[in-house]
Amino acid sequence: MNEFDTPTFRLAVSQFDQAAEAMHLDHNLRERLKQPQRSLVVSIPVRMDDDHVEVFTGYRVQHDSSRGPSKGGVRYHPNVNLGEVAALAMWMTWKCAVAGLPYGGAKGGVAVAPKQLSHAELQRLTRRYAAEIFPLIGPDKDVPAPDVGTDAQVMAWMMDTYSQQVGYAVPGVVTGKPLSIGGSLGREEATGRGVVYVTLEALQHLQLSIDRATVVVQGFGNVGMHTALIMEQEGARVVAVSDVTGGLYNEKGLNIRELLERYKTKGQTLKDTKMGDWITNEELLRLPCTVLVPAALSEQITVHNAAAIRCRILAEGANGPTTLEADRILEDNGVFIIPDILANSGGVIVSYFEWVQDLQRFFWNEADIRNRLHDIITSAFHQTKLFATEKRVSMRMAALMNGIDKVAQAHLQRGLYP
Ligand code: NAP
Repeated sequence: MNEFDTPTFRLAVSQFDQAAEAMHLDHNLRERLKQPQRSLVVSIPVRMDDDHVEVFTGYRVQHDSSRGPSKGGVRYHPNVNLGEVAALAMWMTWKCAVAGLPYGGAKGGVAVAPKQLSHAELQRLTRRYAAEIFPLIGPDKDVPAPDVGTDAQVMAWMMDTYSQQVGYAVPGVVTGKPLSIGGSLGREEATGRGVVYVTLEALQHLQLSIDRATVVVQGFGNVGMHTALIMEQEGARVVAVSDVTGGLYNEKGLNIRELLERYKTKGQTLKDTKMGDWITNEELLRLPCTVLVPAALSEQITVHNAAAIRCRILAEGANGPTTLEADRILEDNGVFIIPDILANSGGVIVSYFEWVQDLQRFFWNEADIRNRLHDIITSAFHQTKLFATEKRVSMRMAALMNGIDKVAQAHLQRGLYP
């Protein structure tokens, strides 16, 4: 398993081991589920605008497909590596199971800084990546979606590349596409909306009111910005947000709608907007608040800063933002953690809706999407909460044990091939 050995993979495996131990998971299954079912590493030669060819490395890892086609995003980031992709694929398996979706888990990525490529270079990179992983993907096999550094446009190029290879339009090969080619209403903000739905349940459980809640969000990309905006719409005071360069803090509350307008439409940086004091990401994580939403990368809350975290609820928008040691410190300090595989599952839930709509060629309205998302994610929250109370385990352990158990049942019922 050395090829996967990175901090993120070790975190995913340690979480799995803890849950597997607590649930006395069958030893043979344990060995199988500790590693991915299939991993593909591809080289991606791209003709750059100045005519030289640069070769990037890409990955697609399928952790498990016992419950259905595998599902998971594609990440474009300079630090992407096989171990990180494998960890993210494993988390996708548990996430889909916790939400009761008929999917296994997968993830993909390319080690690239997408903002340093021109639009044309990004398109050529995406098309070649899609062509290289073509043997693994398909609506019945493995369905990619956006993640860090990718968006609806990248999904449109992947869908087109796949469709060109088979000779007809296959919208169901990816989710998170533009509406014009079979995307779903509500998909873009789905992860953020899901984070808000479960946070509202947690607030109610703790008898706290949203009107008095203060919210801090790390990361102002797809997940972070929609979480911040919907939190504001629900009546919370969003006091800080950040991107990779640092954060804006305003004790009285940031006007997220205006901030988004300036950031997205007018192209101002967060700092340029001068809508609050400028702080570092490390300072942002330590702000006193009701709800802290890490919505950037993994391993942000560690043994070094966990004791200084002063939120009541930690709603993990990002995947793997909290290390194992930090988890214990937060638990001891009474922080209510909504674990990533539950908190950020809104994205894959609405991706599932998109895939179902594509396969049926029948599209739903936005109210249908929101209501169904609300039903699935709040019921997953309450099942996890009940399980945590009954078994006297943390919310993270409850979600993991629940997800792993569903996957284990599928394996045991299908049996071992040959
Ligand atoms: P994204 O759109 O690419 O946004 C990432 C954001 O994080 C950007 O604002 C980025 O800033 C910021 N960031 C990057 N490195 C950072 C750092 N070291 N410190 C603080 N901020 C940093 O990505 P996303 O889709 O929102 O994904 C964010 C997280 O949510 C990831 O962990 C992802 O796996 C998880 N997630 C995403 C989805 C989804 O549907 N997209 C679903 C479930 C989970 P710059 O823009 O300045 O680089």
